[in-house]
Amino acid sequence: MTRLAPSDVMQLRKDFPILDQEVNGHPLVYLDNAATSQKPRAVIDAITHHYERDNANIHRGVHTLAQRSTQGYEGARTKLARFLGATDSREIVFTRGTTEAINLVASAFGPTVLGAGDEILVSEMEHHSNIVPWQLLCERTGAKLVMAPMDDRGQIDMAAFRERLSARTKIVALVHVSNALGTINPIEELVELAHTAGAHTVIDGAQAAAHLAIDVAALGCDFYATSGHKMFGPTGIGALWARAELLEAMPPWQGGGEMILTVTFEGSEYNEIPHKFEAGTPNVAGAVGLGATVDYLETIGMERIAAWEHELLEHGTEVLSTIPEIRLIGTAEKKAGVLSFLVEGVHAHDVGTILDLEGIAVRTGHHCAQPVMDHFGVAATTRASLAFYNTKEELDALGAGLRKVLEVFA
Ligand code: PMP
Repeated sequence: MTRLAPSDVMQLRKDFPILDQEVNGHPLVYLDNAATSQKPRAVIDAITHHYERDNANIHRGVHTLAQRSTQGYEGARTKLARFLGATDSREIVFTRGTTEAINLVASAFGPTVLGAGDEILVSEMEHHSNIVPWQLLCERTGAKLVMAPMDDRGQIDMAAFRERLSARTKIVALVHVSNALGTINPIEELVELAHTAGAHTVIDGAQAAAHLAIDVAALGCDFYATSGHKMFGPTGIGALWARAELLEAMPPWQGGGEMILTVTFEGSEYNEIPHKFEAGTPNVAGAVGLGATVDYLETIGMERIAAWEHELLEHGTEVLSTIPEIRLIGTAEKKAGVLSFLVEGVHAHDVGTILDLEGIAVRTGHHCAQPVMDHFGVAATTRASLAFYNTKEELDALGAGLRKVLEVFA
């Protein structure tokens, strides 16, 4: 498999204007990509172009700008469908992001398949946005949330997962790549087990789409949620992919313009999918930007990105392992570019603050995955999360920064 060479990475970095700056007198080392990733010039330009030349409301206008705007928005849907391995662009519903996509499934689909006494199975490593919407659904329906535990490396315990699946399990909701640990879950296998038990599957792809080639058909899941801003696209736009027949059968979520065909005071007839789920004026510029992101990523190639990030992860793991005071949290066999760790004797917040003085951006805290922190008996970790534009030299700078942290607290 080909990977990006370091010289390719140096070239690609030039596409990201934000990376070329100093922070606190040091070259910026951006290692907070799991929180949000940076945007290439092509995406920034696509959004600017939209507002400078094409901006109009979509779908209903006959004038030229309305048509261009609609083409930009619907073109992005087609691109994203292809990028995720979907054959039918009607299966892409634009949302604000992963959180909204999961809430849409929980609110609109959830009550159609479960009731009191039924169960929703999630893993112990879920982000809060793949826990709380299900808790709200449980409150509405009397269903029960069940947790599948993970082991101390941060991998789903497959035996326990099998055990907790039963005829009562109606929905299985799992993260593809853990934001707090980096674990890449064996989604195909987990989905097959869930389907055998008769459950529907919802996959949180927030951390996957920027790092792995996604093929929803191969994964076999029923729903896949993702966020544009984690994959070098704009904030405020993301998508839910769902099987067309499920979207057809589901009631709408929000009501308003665009999601209807006809409205009278006696009742309304709903629009076709996916428009049935896109009430109101959507984030048109965001979708256009996301379409440009897909073009950009496809030019590089997700396999090459994944291979380079794997090399970076190995290098970063090695750098951290040379510092005895550091304990890595999340050591799964299959991992994406997340290095979550504790620095002995130093609070994560202090680690992050001192690294920032060195121009190094990392995230500290519970990473919206408090059950993961509880599992490891910690309140917070420091997390360095990678993107393809990171370099081995930046990980060396992280190592040097951490040595400074230890000096300060010696
Ligand atoms: N799931 C995971 C695994 C995440 O990392 C995040 C973002 N941190 C989300 C869901 C929520 O994504 P968003 O805030 O873009 O809706």
